[in-house]
Amino acid sequence: MKVNSKIPYTGTTIFSVMSALAHKHQAVNLSQGFPDFDISKELIQQVSEAMQMGYNQYAPMPGLIELRTALSEKIVKCNSVSINPETEITITPGATYAIYTALSTILHAGDEVIILEPAYDSYIPNIVLNGARPICVPLQAPNFSIDWNVVNQAVTSHTRAIIINTPHNPTGYSWTKDDIKELEKLVSLHDLYIISDEVYEHIVFDGRKHESILNYPSLYQRAFVIFSFGKVFHTTGWKMGYCVAPSTLTSEFRKIHQYLSFSCNTPMQYGLATYIKDSATYEMLPNFFQQKRELFLSIMKETPFTLFHKTSGSYFQLMGYEKISSLPDKEFAVWLTEKYGVATIPISAFNHDGSDNKLVRFCFAKQNTTLEEAALRLQKL
Ligand code: PMP
Ligand code: GLN
Repeated sequence: MKVNSKIPYTGTTIFSVMSALAHKHQAVNLSQGFPDFDISKELIQQVSEAMQMGYNQYAPMPGLIELRTALSEKIVKCNSVSINPETEITITPGATYAIYTALSTILHAGDEVIILEPAYDSYIPNIVLNGARPICVPLQAPNFSIDWNVVNQAVTSHTRAIIINTPHNPTGYSWTKDDIKELEKLVSLHDLYIISDEVYEHIVFDGRKHESILNYPSLYQRAFVIFSFGKVFHTTGWKMGYCVAPSTLTSEFRKIHQYLSFSCNTPMQYGLATYIKDSATYEMLPNFFQQKRELFLSIMKETPFTLFHKTSGSYFQLMGYEKISSLPDKEFAVWLTEKYGVATIPISAFNHDGSDNKLVRFCFAKQNTTLEEAALRLQKL
């Protein structure tokens, strides 16, 4: 039987494509965003204990209250705001799922959603699958800041929401207080919802503070704020995340969540509930990843790649390759993997029209030895 595709223009996500190519050519995989180092032994221990104690059946639909309470305490520590764990936090099987569910909660056929490009590649299909239309606003190279005039011009009577992402994948741009002020004006004027993708909340550099929507009551009242345990605790394979939203939005979100996955992994929720009580587990992250960024940038200086702008958050760095090749970025990324054994992500994959700034994205959430091996290979260019 042939399926009448709902997203006919969509192929296989670039992350699967590049990781498979890296595997095939035994390349150093700096493409898909996942760490190659071990996760905390304590966390493994805490999850194993939960399994051994028999916590292996369905968790409650919104998530274990122990984990939601621990998260509300973490939010007080990080953001000085009070979030009700009963009514405002839902544990989800990853952040991607939470974004899809939030969009499903608010969108009706014909609605429009503003996204800022380059954008994480799930946003557009998730909008389209919910019967709505993505309206893509380009960010401004080289640092990929936001031109708020263009964002304002993109609003129509059909605009229902804006998806924001800070720190930003793939550009590493982190929001400023001015961005927050502009967003406040935009969403209050047009009565828009906000989907705030904050999966890299703890990966911010040079003493910056992460600008969370949770800190701004006028924004939070209309927001779904989405996080990933995968990104914070190096456990991308666990697919665990959560959505924080005011109770009225959360109750609609849960109506959908209960029929998509109902609940998620019980022992991991017990493990995480204990683990995050110690704030050192996430407070060490900016420093830990800043050291990786510095190592990566210093070894990349010995290669012909061009640094246009240092990443200020997330574990990604964009680099130009204009001194190496004039190939389109996708072809360049394939060539680099096959010939030099280092896999990256071409940025055109994050643009709806495939527009190409001749930039590739490197993931530096890797062991130092992995980064050094990649540099040795790239120095041969
Ligand atoms: N948003 C962004 C910006 C991401 O980079 C990722 C990748 N992890 C996600 C969401 C998805 O996170 P998860 O693996 O928890 O679904
Ligand atoms: N977020 C990760 C990245 O940007 C990948 C997630 C995925 O593979 N879907 O590389």
